[in-house]
Amino acid sequence: MRTVRLPSGRTMPALGQGTWNMGESKSARGAEVAALRLGLDLGMHLIDTAEMYGDGGAEEVVGEAIAGRRDAVFLVSKVYPHNASRAGVRQACERSLRRLGTDRLDLYLLHWRGSVPLAETLDGLLALQREGKILDFGVSNFDRDDMVEAAGLPGGAAIATNQVLYNLVKRGVEWDLLPWMHQRHMPLMAYSPLESSPAESSSLLRNATLATVAARHGVTPAQLAVAWLLHQPNVVVIPKAVQLAHVEQNRAAVNVLLSAADMAELDQAFAPPRRATPLAMR
Ligand code: NAP
Repeated sequence: MRTVRLPSGRTMPALGQGTWNMGESKSARGAEVAALRLGLDLGMHLIDTAEMYGDGGAEEVVGEAIAGRRDAVFLVSKVYPHNASRAGVRQACERSLRRLGTDRLDLYLLHWRGSVPLAETLDGLLALQREGKILDFGVSNFDRDDMVEAAGLPGGAAIATNQVLYNLVKRGVEWDLLPWMHQRHMPLMAYSPLESSPAESSSLLRNATLATVAARHGVTPAQLAVAWLLHQPNVVVIPKAVQLAHVEQNRAAVNVLLSAADMAELDQAFAPPRRATPLAMR
């Protein structure tokens, strides 16, 4: 699996597995654990979760999926903004570690910006890092201005990544956030790569151009949407899948090599941004 380099020098897999909407029902648990395990077997070693997902339930699902193979996993979780005070971030992290059945996170993210001063959150994250409870830390749903502010604070230079909504129909980050991150060699984690959730049917996946380019490569539109993100330098992609066929398809997306002509055709159908827009969020 291709990896990207974090500012700390550690590496992170470029393709991983999301877990939003997992851990919400007992009856789905077996299928969710099986999907994550299949993804690990196939080499998708990054798992992205959060204390928010299923109210801790997703972390418990992940804990079961990674039991006995923790060392092979790049584990990412997120703290709620309202838990991101100096003391709160420690307690939240310790609860996450317990649910995940591990002693450390590879990466711990502030889920979005809240009312706790960023300097205090960074202080808390640095303390957790010193204790080895988290190896790297970062943020999520931060626009460029938030990144500039955070980067200027003590500990801000160590921010490893920013996880944001990025896919073919949500390309606003290409205007100034992604270039800012590129300049600092900071990878971007692209969430909702399929612009899809069980609650909505994805307009992206029904797009005719996406289907045409995908057919040319002998893959599905979803695989092409993942491949397009993987084609961007220093971008990490975390599709969520419970159906085993989806897990296999997402893994196989790394084998799709897009040509300059494919990219130009996709740019015609999904225009890159022409002006700054506020960061889109879920
Ligand atoms: P997504 O990955 O874009 O889409 C997930 C949906 O697509 C599921 O319904 C899944 O179905 C389906 N799917 C997966 N692979 C497919 C394939 N190959 N073909 C067709 N359909 C496929 O959406 P997401 O869950 O919003 O985003 C991914 C992850 O990013 C999340 O799970 C979470 O870890 C993270 N995230 C972070 C934030 C944040 O604020 N930081 C926000 C949103 C998401 P099945 O499950 O039925 O297979």
